[in-house]
Formats: sequence, structure tokens, C-alpha cells
Amino acid sequence: MSAIFSNNTDVFASIERLLKRQVEKADILRLLKVTGEFQQELFRQARAVRAASGADKVHLRGVIEISNYCQKSCVYCAIRAPNKNISHYRMSVDEIMELAYKIKEFGINIIFLQSGQDPKCVDLMEEVIPRIKQELNTTILLCLGEWPKIVYQRFYDLGADSYILKYETSDPELYEKIAHTPLSGRLECARWIKEVGMKLGVGNIVGLPDQPFESLAEDILLGVALQPDFVSVSPFIANQDTPFENVPTGDFNITLNTMAINRILHNASLIPTVSALEKIYPEGQLMGLNAGANVITINFTPPDYQKKYKIYSKDRFVVTHEHALNIIDKSGMQRVQV
Ligand code: SAH
Repeated sequence: MSAIFSNNTDVFASIERLLKRQVEKADILRLLKVTGEFQQELFRQARAVRAASGADKVHLRGVIEISNYCQKSCVYCAIRAPNKNISHYRMSVDEIMELAYKIKEFGINIIFLQSGQDPKCVDLMEEVIPRIKQELNTTILLCLGEWPKIVYQRFYDLGADSYILKYETSDPELYEKIAHTPLSGRLECARWIKEVGMKLGVGNIVGLPDQPFESLAEDILLGVALQPDFVSVSPFIANQDTPFENVPTGDFNITLNTMAINRILHNASLIPTVSALEKIYPEGQLMGLNAGANVITINFTPPDYQKKYKIYSKDRFVVTHEHALNIIDKSGMQRVQV
């Protein structure tokens, strides 16, 4: 009994220090491991921070996966350049615009364009960004990989509002192992994105092979240091046709705990509840909302392309509008009205 009591006190004290912005790695490590009633307390505090920051309405994003060409060789991802078992596509401007109109018709005001590391997508943006801005006037969120600063500047000048570039892990050695490029280069890109004026989204993956547990706390601390506008975390999902195809799935509870800790440390930020959570646990995305998230991304990529955009596994969970509204309803939250 006294052991439970002392654990209880420790968890409360750790949460209390985070709330006061006395951010210590030891507290984050303790909170990453909580389960049962302690985890519920962490989630309750995360929801309280979300409410107190006026961030407790759910934002919907509509994602279009515009190209699965990729120059990188990330070991966890099936659209990696060395994968020969992939049938490639890149959408035309007209295809993208048709889907962008569809997103807007659903009353969604954030159009999210994602792709592999594909130079031709940079060219596509010259036409796509101004057209979306002029014809639909929505927020434009990009996730198109690593580019020189001048390219980010161009995206911003064309009208892009925000950009997601996750660091995946804060451990430089591990990053290089999983992405075959240096972490420092990716972090420099993240800083450029902010410097040119776009909002920045960052985040990590939980459950990479050889990922030290301690590094998960450092991932959270790196997120705090970068002062992003959005913070995301996904559990690792093994992908066919990759060197990691037999690696077990990332831990569901550690992922939820990361989200809750991020919420306490980033107050009003946008924190998505990602589709990978639903894939590994029934109602996983709903649990993400209960842990402090406030964003759901709905997939508008047409099914033929979706099958080829294998960033998670081939049977990834595809979030529909209906599913998103259903879990918002169950969470007792409301949608941001646009
Ligand atoms: N080319 C872009 C987009 C990458 S995919 C870029 O470099 O940023 C978007 C995000 O999905 C990645 O940053 C990664 O965090 C996540 N992701 C991709 N494959 C994953 C996997 N197998 N498991 C967990 N997360 C994954």
C-alpha cells in the first residue's frame, strides 16, 4: 500500500512540476510509464490544460497524399527510394484541386498536402498554393520533406501557412540509422521553416528499433526547445518491403502518455490523434482525444493512390469524415466551426 501511495505522490509531483514549467527529464520518464489510475490522472491534467488554453475544440484537416516518389531511404517507410516493389504516382494540379474543392465542401478549412521527398512537388506548389488560396481561401499545411531555405521561403511567399517536419527521434545516431541522413540537417530545415514565417509542426515516433527509452524523454524536450505550433507522435508501424518489416508495433500507452505530456508542455498547440493509434487499438484515436489531442486528419487521397502511398502498412487505417465526427461526438468535444 505504501509503495502505491509513494508512486501516487511521485506522479502527482511530476505533473505539478511540468505544469509549473519546471521541466525535468526524470519527471518525463516517470510520466511516460504511467498506467491505470495514474495515467488517467495524467490525461485529466492534459485535458484541463487544453480547456484552460481554449484549445479544446477539434480541428479537422483534409490530407491529400500528392506523390509517392521519394529520394530518401528511411528504413521504416515503404515509399523509400530503394523499394522496387512500388508503383509510383504523382497527382496533377487538376487532380489536387478537385480534391481540395472536395475538402472545402466538407466544411474543412485546413488543406494538408503530403508527399515523399519529391522535387517535382516543389514545382507543383507554384500553381497549387496560389490556386488553393485564391479559389478556396483555406489554410495550407505542407509536409513535403527537407529543402533549402529558399524553397521554404518560396512556399511561404506563395501562400503556405504551415509545414510539418517531424524529427522522428532526437537521438542523432538513431536518426541517421533510420533516415540515412543527419538529424542536424533536418533540424536546420525545421528552424528555417519558422524563420521564413510558416507555422512549424514537429514530433517523434515511439517504438523504433534500438530506441533508448531515455531518448523518448529527450524527444519531448527537443519539442519544447523548438517551440513549434504543432506536436505530433505516432507509434511505429512496421511496413512491408522495408528493412523494419518484422519490427513490433510501438507502445500504445507510451504514445498516449507522450501526447498528454506534450499537451501539458505546449498548452494551446495543435496535437493530432493519428490514424496509427486506431490501427493498433480499437478506438485508439478517441483515446488520443481523451489524452489531450485536438486535431484529426481525414484522408481525401483517392483509394487507388492511397494503396500506393504506403507510409504505414498496406492495411493502414484510413480516417473518414464519418469516423472523425463519430469520435469527436464520443469524446464530448466539439469541432472548430469554420
Ligand atoms: N517526406 C515527408 C513526409 C514523411 S511521412 C517528410 O520527410 O517529412 C510523414 C510522417 O509519418 C513521418 O514524418 C513519420 O513521422 C510518420 N511515419 C511514416 N512512416 C511511419 C511508420 N512506419 N511508423 C510510424 N510513423 C511513420
